[in-house]
Amino acid sequence: MIRRADHLTALDQAIGDGDHGLNMTRGLETVRTDAAMIAAKTLPEALKAIGTQLVMRVGGASGPLYGTLLLSLGAEIEPDGANVAAALGIAVDAVKIRGRSSAGQKTMLDVLVPVQAALAAGGPELSARVARVAAEAADSTVPMRATRGRASFLGERSVGNMDPGACSTALSVVAVCQVLGA
Ligand code: ADP
Ligand code: MG
Repeated sequence: MIRRADHLTALDQAIGDGDHGLNMTRGLETVRTDAAMIAAKTLPEALKAIGTQLVMRVGGASGPLYGTLLLSLGAEIEPDGANVAAALGIAVDAVKIRGRSSAGQKTMLDVLVPVQAALAAGGPELSARVARVAAEAADSTVPMRATRGRASFLGERSVGNMDPGACSTALSVVAVCQVLGA
């Protein structure tokens, strides 16, 4: 995510205010600094620690939404991660409530919702499939018209660019899938 910050910023320059790469970098640098401390925690506590850092550091619209996602996931997930699909479902619902948004509005939810569905469907080679779903879902935001967030101010002019939050969400999902699938 930090390596792709310039790309996220370019996407946000096209349909927002050009700070998404900077916002995510600010939050994730803190997470990286605390990585050893976070890794020593149980899975629920580690997710809550990341969520807290994102709420405090990312800012913008995306900070509270990513924070809500991670804090809620941390509150719902079992220490062994066995209920990850159900827990992510509750966490995605919490993002919808916080953002007063839903899939189809050209936001991070256009990646989160299909990713959760793919995870819940299960099956073989799950991490590779979920990673593919995430990347395709981010691509699917290109022709969408934004009706939530800053990009919605552009109306029809928001069509033709990938949503920056959908891109950063897909980057996170692909990274997690690569680590878990390796
Ligand atoms: P800001 O829009 O305040 O500058 P960022 O640039 O960091 O914040 O994040 C923008 C991203 O946040 C958007 O690309 C979108 O994916 C996501 N976003 C914004 N508002 C909402 C919302 N109401 N629901 C879901 N996601 C949203
Ligand atoms: Mg922005």
